[in-house]
Amino acid sequence: MQILKDVASTRRFIQTQKQAGKTIGLVPTMGALHAGHLNLVSQCVAENNVAVASIFVNPIQFNNATDLAKYPRTLAADTALLKDAGCHAVFCPDAETMYQHKPIVSLDFGLLDKVLEGEFRPGHFSGVGVVVSKLFNILQPDVAYFGQKDFQQFLIIKQLVDDLNFPVKLICADIVREADGLAMSSRNQRLNHEARIQAASIYKMLQSSARQLGIKNFEVIKQEAEAELERQGIRLEYLALADRHTLKTLETFSPAAPSVLLVAVYVGDVRLIDNILV
Ligand code: AMP
Repeated sequence: MQILKDVASTRRFIQTQKQAGKTIGLVPTMGALHAGHLNLVSQCVAENNVAVASIFVNPIQFNNATDLAKYPRTLAADTALLKDAGCHAVFCPDAETMYQHKPIVSLDFGLLDKVLEGEFRPGHFSGVGVVVSKLFNILQPDVAYFGQKDFQQFLIIKQLVDDLNFPVKLICADIVREADGLAMSSRNQRLNHEARIQAASIYKMLQSSARQLGIKNFEVIKQEAEAELERQGIRLEYLALADRHTLKTLETFSPAAPSVLLVAVYVGDVRLIDNILV
């Protein structure tokens, strides 16, 4: 497996593969890899001649300095996992390589980056859009793999690709969960034993809220969800029902309209997100 750290040698590697007629698949990550990431990598390996993963903790998408500082970094273990998964190359630049200066360019995604994560993490999706654009320009993938776990992020990237004509096919893979239902996340590593047990209630709440849609008023569902999470020591930041394509938030559930139920919580000082299609 090639370890690529600087832009010039990465471009040479990609150019060689392209000249040989190889297709390139990309799995962008921030590292601290788990089975959710590896599922994307397996799909990428199966569907492309060359599978590239990127590992880069992107500073400009963090609006909380503590979250950035505490984000787990496990590069040696990650590269071993990628090699075992059959990945052909990993692009793992440092922050100075990606940003010689703080980018002047920022991106506005309209409603898509104003609601939900965008509301609680101002600037986050502009940072995501900038780094994904840089990764697409450097690595020139034919196909890029993302997870439904970051549902809003996928819609943002889809908009980016549509609006700016990136020649990339996007794949959105299902959420991989722990046995107790908790969505796998690099941030789960930061949960202590007690918090990890409490965190299982996030997905249980999502499932029970989804079952009650159309039976109870959504405002009532939300209040009950908040109370249930509070009993588990979890603080609800938002629980929202939204249109699956536009993310326009909905006050009432209609079975005919494809929607998504999205949640963000704090378990101690660890912020976790999850969602379920309804
Ligand atoms: P991250 O390293 O958190 O930036 O995630 C890299 C990619 O893996 C993103 O496209 C995520 O949506 C995806 N991902 C993260 N967790 C999961 C999961 N539990 N199941 C599926 N995909 C995931």
